Amino acid sequence: MIGRAAIVSIGNELLFGKTVDTNAAFLARWCSQQGLRVHTCRTVGDNEEVIAITVRELARDADLVLLTGGLGPTVDDRTRHAVAMAAGRSLEESASAWRAIQQYYRRRKPGEAVPESNRRQALIPKGAQILRNDRGTAPGLLMQVDGTWVASLPGVPVEMTAMVERLGTRLPRLITGLDAPAVAELHCAGAGESALQDHLGGLLLDDDAVQVGITVHERGFITIRAVGEAQAVERRRRALHKMLQDWLLPEPGLAESLVVALREKQWTLATVESCSGGRVAAALTAVPGASEVFCQGSIAYANAVKSREFAVPEVVLNGPGAVSEECVRALAINGRLRCGSDLCCAVSGVAGPGGGTRRTPVGTVWIAVASAQGCEARQVHLAGDREHIQQRAAQQAMLCTWQYVKTLLSTRGRRSKKTQH
Ligand code: AMP
Ligand code: MG
Repeated sequence: MIGRAAIVSIGNELLFGKTVDTNAAFLARWCSQQGLRVHTCRTVGDNEEVIAITVRELARDADLVLLTGGLGPTVDDRTRHAVAMAAGRSLEESASAWRAIQQYYRRRKPGEAVPESNRRQALIPKGAQILRNDRGTAPGLLMQVDGTWVASLPGVPVEMTAMVERLGTRLPRLITGLDAPAVAELHCAGAGESALQDHLGGLLLDDDAVQVGITVHERGFITIRAVGEAQAVERRRRALHKMLQDWLLPEPGLAESLVVALREKQWTLATVESCSGGRVAAALTAVPGASEVFCQGSIAYANAVKSREFAVPEVVLNGPGAVSEECVRALAINGRLRCGSDLCCAVSGVAGPGGGTRRTPVGTVWIAVASAQGCEARQVHLAGDREHIQQRAAQQAMLCTWQYVKTLLSTRGRRSKKTQH
């Protein structure tokens, strides 16, 4: 059985646009993994009556209502009172909740007295169960409103995520017959969303047993997700896998996939970045174990550094300029020799908002990848503000390097097969 869930994000800061509601997105993902279909996500302010009315309304049509926020120690946090109002219960101080708050406080701030305002967090609607918080003081609450389970979780994301993961282990006992659906995810890069849609055609359509979704990530790759009945999901995954061969990433991320591909061949990589300002190196070093394959990241920002450190000829810098094929080729080839790596990737572009010309407008980025086999260069045109262009330039550089490694792997594979015949 697929259950029904509703999510309510609570807090004036959400309505002011000061805090981005990441909790609702997390809880929606969590629900779909548990076999719960979310039919409503609401955002409400710290208003006791509005919260209580919302809870009662949503409880009528859901198996589980998840609330996040408004459990803090200050008077503006009203979720405890609102849930008590919705359930028609009074609030009482729970001795065990107060003990847990004191214990948490003493562990984090030894020797300091627990502020009296934290005592508000021990107020629990009569009959509610307490959800333990191991990352903060606010206990969560679990109780029924008109026969529907309502869980109140803290707003602080790290506290909320840990608490709801623990709730997941109890869920089958609270809502019987839930079937967690099978999920298959394929990650790809190098083709846009529309191109993939045209290529995949009917494989992206839902049927009775499978729902298919396509998500474009800010981190420069696309995920295709099939959710539903196990055998149908597996059949769809295989069909998608076959059609996506040219673009499939081994990992959910460009940096992660590049590290995996390099590790497979035991190749090392260096980078020389100009417009991306070290973002390629930052992304690669964020991957655990990247030191096996990533040896050096340089930022050659000023033209003087490009010529002095990476031997970009003056005629290139004074002619086609720093954002040119000749320049990135020199950076990649000389960067590789300087570092002694198997590969080197170089990026140079115009991030804007100024600096663009008619020949080289803002968003023009040149990327080169050099190896002992040669050097390949590519130009891309990116849109957006400075930060966006810098991020996209780094993603494109990782994509080019990953594609270069993949091509080397496959041509080597073909050659070695030929010699065997
Ligand atoms: P609260 O539990 O309402 O006291 O929330 C504590 C803090 O958690 C807020 O100040 C926000 O920074 C953060 N927060 C609350 N609700 C959300 C949400 N829906 N998504 C992301 N962060 C949140
Ligand atoms: Mg709040």
